[in-house]
Amino acid sequence: MYDVIVIGAGPAGMMASITAARNNKRVLLLEKNSNLGKKLLITGGGRCNLTNLKNVNNFCKEVSVNSNSLKYSLNVFGPKQIYNYFSDLGVALKVEDNDRVFPKGDDSTLIVDALYSELKRYNVFINYNCSVIDIISNDIGYTIYTNIGSFRTVNVIVATGSRSYPKTGSTGDGYKFANQLNQPLTELYPAQVPLKLLEPLPLTGITIESVKIKLNNIVKEGSILFTHKGVSGPAVFKISEYVYHEFKNKEEVAIFINFLPDETEESLFEKMSEYNPKKEIKSFIKEFLPSRLTKYILGVSKINGSDKITIISNKNKRIIINNIINYKIYIKNSFMVETSLITGGGVDLRYINNQTMESTINHGIYFVGELLDVHGSTGGYNITIALATGYVAGSSIT
Ligand SMILES: Cc1cc2nc3c(=O)[nH]c(=O)nc-3n(C[C@H](O)[C@H](O)[C@H](O)COP(=O)(O)OP(=O)(O)OC[C@H]3O[C@@H](n4cnc5c(N)ncnc54)[C@H](O)[C@@H]3O)c2cc1C
Repeated sequence: MYDVIVIGAGPAGMMASITAARNNKRVLLLEKNSNLGKKLLITGGGRCNLTNLKNVNNFCKEVSVNSNSLKYSLNVFGPKQIYNYFSDLGVALKVEDNDRVFPKGDDSTLIVDALYSELKRYNVFINYNCSVIDIISNDIGYTIYTNIGSFRTVNVIVATGSRSYPKTGSTGDGYKFANQLNQPLTELYPAQVPLKLLEPLPLTGITIESVKIKLNNIVKEGSILFTHKGVSGPAVFKISEYVYHEFKNKEEVAIFINFLPDETEESLFEKMSEYNPKKEIKSFIKEFLPSRLTKYILGVSKINGSDKITIISNKNKRIIINNIINYKIYIKNSFMVETSLITGGGVDLRYINNQTMESTINHGIYFVGELLDVHGSTGGYNITIALATGYVAGSSIT
């Protein structure tokens, strides 16, 4: 009999398996796909933003709910330990802007291969194409029913991921298992998702590297990409869960984009007023923004781009500036967890011992990774959460 059966070979399940096996436990890892880490392979656009080197307190500021429950795991196996772990395995890493860590080879297979060699080194048994159907408690522990037969064990680590990107294997099975085990769940919601606009803008394909997006008092920064249906990119992903929740109370929700986050209304007004008065207004804006966006901003401001700055009234200058630093767009109330990068909500952490990841209701059942009601922003936080909680669960198997 195995000491522990781990369900799901994403980062959480692989790390849980390696850690338990390193402590001389007999580990069986069950994965419904024919390969490991299918989602991990597509992370970071195939480059895998593995972790984020912020210290634990600052890391937790990027975690919108339940960050306190993570502190223990992050202190035991957080960004620093993850960085050292993969470096020691021979994966050269690099740090990019905002403390984001990637493999130097810009290839997520380097991370999956490193985890695979560790699984082999510690003799973890892996059953591929093995889909878990049920977890049923028995006289000594649990029986795991799968499409290829059943397995008995005393410990189960559920690492089945979320409901986002179901083609990767994350089809939400863990929520079903939790339900069957009477393990409380919180509401699921899309946590990093592109936003559709009520009226799509003629800006498809334009990317702005650094904007601020505001919803009420929440401000998120990053790049934005205009798509044919709406907006996408890190700044949008970061604000999207708040937009989703805002629709619970409102029929109409708008966000405000600041295309020049380093400027204020006054600084831009001053720059505009000091600009060569004989030049056209469009050349001033083009100094900061791409031409198509410039043309669009002038269009919505009802200003002719060929007008010389000198003939533009102060009132109109302020209208243009407002459209540059406070552009209002209405969002369509259309959200799907499946197309979201992350699923918010999940296994309720009030019923999980955060120093072991064991359920306080189901003795011997551990929940890890994105399946839990905790997630981070974009920037390497979610793989870190998966690895950290997986590590803690794996090392808690006695
Ligand atoms: C496009 C995209 C890009 C991303 N980029 C990043 C990034 O760069 N950095 C970052 O930190 N995060 C990123 N994320 C988020 C990150 O990938 C996830 O948070 C992370 O993979 C979660 O790990 P996990 O182990 O909990 O679950 P998963 O990685 O989802 O793994 C769960 C595994 O369980 C298996 N499974 C499910 N049900 C069963 C079953 N019944 N029986 C057997 N096996 C089962 C699945 O097949 C899957 O292999 C990205 C997500 C997406 C969708």
